Amino acid sequence: MTNSTDTAPGADKFEEVACYDCGSTETTNLLVGQDDLSGKPGDFQFVTCNQCGLAYQSPRLTVENISPYYDDEYIAHRKETNWGILTWFYERAMGKHDREKDKLVSRYASLKPGTEVLDVGCGSGSFLQRLRQQHQVNASGVDFKNLTHLPFFEGVTFHEGLYYEQDLCENFYDLVTMWHFLEHDYDPVRTLETSHRILKPGGYLVIEVPRLDSVTYRLYGKRWPGVQAPQHTVMYTKDTLLRFMERSGLELVDYLPYGAFPAYFYLYAGLAFHLRKGKGLNLRRSIYPYFAGQILMTPILLFERHLNLAMQTVICRKPS
Ligand SMILES: [Zn+2]
Repeated sequence: MTNSTDTAPGADKFEEVACYDCGSTETTNLLVGQDDLSGKPGDFQFVTCNQCGLAYQSPRLTVENISPYYDDEYIAHRKETNWGILTWFYERAMGKHDREKDKLVSRYASLKPGTEVLDVGCGSGSFLQRLRQQHQVNASGVDFKNLTHLPFFEGVTFHEGLYYEQDLCENFYDLVTMWHFLEHDYDPVRTLETSHRILKPGGYLVIEVPRLDSVTYRLYGKRWPGVQAPQHTVMYTKDTLLRFMERSGLELVDYLPYGAFPAYFYLYAGLAFHLRKGKGLNLRRSIYPYFAGQILMTPILLFERHLNLAMQTVICRKPS
């Protein structure tokens, strides 16, 4: 079976990767990651580029061999609707995540009827649906996983496949968002070039990714949730992320040492991953301690934005 993830993938499913940023193949081993979230077998090597310092996975699974890792458990937790007694908490948390994204982009881009928004790696589509309902924007999404049977896609234009292979209109979008997309990307340079091309002059690009030079990485190392092997291809520090932005031709508007995604998830999951040692996390059983821990941690989480815990967001604009 070529599509199974029950056994560790063989060497024939992998390819060596030259540095995404500078093209060098001289690297130093950084860590070996595992699929701590779902517990699928396999060891995945991450390296640091000797030339420019970019941290990335090499060898990586070829694009044909990565898709089984986006099935089942990886997607399931987004579709899950029955969490028993905690359903209300869960739905509130998911709704809060979309509200935080909305708040963040609204600080920069003006969202109003007719504003063209594209969300890259749109998943369930819930963020786009929120923007439609709150601001009456024209919403479009791209993902290589088609989840358009979910109700969030009502009124949303959907493009299926790899972002940079889509036939998207040039100089068209007022806002392009990438929430935890660029660390999964097989060609981040091409992704940024694509974004430059499809944005209107003055249009915004908002990118959130995990931050490698953060407190949670120092705490958890190879069990850091930002490793998420084999899906994560690149792990960005502040410096390497900003370098990618610089070469894209977009102007830097702002850099935030946090994101819309709760840093608490990384604090919690990193600890759980250490205890489970690569055997995977049972999301159903984890949800009780997750919310209990969140309540205990509230005093610390109030200062989340100043602690450089786990996330980073970069806001750029296409020059007018
Ligand atoms: Zn490099």
